[in-house]
Amino acid sequence: MLTVSNYHYIREDFSAPFPSIFGITPNQFENQLVELSKLGEFISQQKLIQEIDAILSSDLNYILITFDDGLKEQFEIAKPILDKLNIPAIYFVNSLNYIEKKVSLVHKIHLLRSRISSKAILNCIQNEFSSEVIHLTTTEKNKAELHYNYDDKESAHLKYLLNFKLSSDQTTKVIDTLFFLNFDTNEVVSNLYMSADQLQELSRMNMLGSHTHSHFALGLLASDEIATEIATTKEFIDNFEHDNQHAISYAYGSAEACQNPVQTIAKQHGYTIGFTMERGINDFTANKLLLKRFDCNDLPGGKNYTK
Ligand SMILES: [Zn+2]
Repeated sequence: MLTVSNYHYIREDFSAPFPSIFGITPNQFENQLVELSKLGEFISQQKLIQEIDAILSSDLNYILITFDDGLKEQFEIAKPILDKLNIPAIYFVNSLNYIEKKVSLVHKIHLLRSRISSKAILNCIQNEFSSEVIHLTTTEKNKAELHYNYDDKESAHLKYLLNFKLSSDQTTKVIDTLFFLNFDTNEVVSNLYMSADQLQELSRMNMLGSHTHSHFALGLLASDEIATEIATTKEFIDNFEHDNQHAISYAYGSAEACQNPVQTIAKQHGYTIGFTMERGINDFTANKLLLKRFDCNDLPGGKNYTK
């Protein structure tokens, strides 16, 4: 059996003018590792790839720690804790942040929403895109408030607008405009993402994996675009010249983001192990290119975990 615990942000302080970045503290991380160590044996990427069939059909519970998005804090804060406890992990990175030195759309949204109120973002969108269809009808507003019932009204409207109303091109245009006005891309890239040296170190330890090039939901793209997204990051990681095989984690990890032909194209590029964000433990029935993972909050030691 294989249980995977996945992490994103890990930092001491999550305070922000408009808190929109969520994750765990170093203490919570370390406590969770101790809890998880009681459940089974931690496993490395190398062993996972080499012995996957035996691992999946074993009665023993193997535990894998994964990080998505290539965030610097995962190396600088989480890795020393893992090293201290002698626990391996896989760090899934997007090559866009290195090859093009760009910030992923998902992080632009997180950063903007933590600095600017949803109301102000909605106003900016209306000013910048007055000619486009960006107004929500009363029905849409009601739908948004129902769908995002944990958020205040403005945040619900904003999320609905970005996720359901605007096309992905429009969302990119809106967010890029706002991001450019409020942030320095070079500064964010160098502060938010791991450095090339840090990637080199992870590669040397066979802890580097692919999160694809641009952090797009692959399943929504055309086949040739999926292939480019996968091939670009594979080449980027293989260029670190450590002769290791690595796994892939599909951005967003939803059923939609991982739908066919995503796994077929991953396989064509030499991948044997792929990860989604479908919750669950993997056993001998698992599809090795669509393995399940838990968000760390849902496992023992996590804030949503209930026995
Ligand atoms: Zn991601």
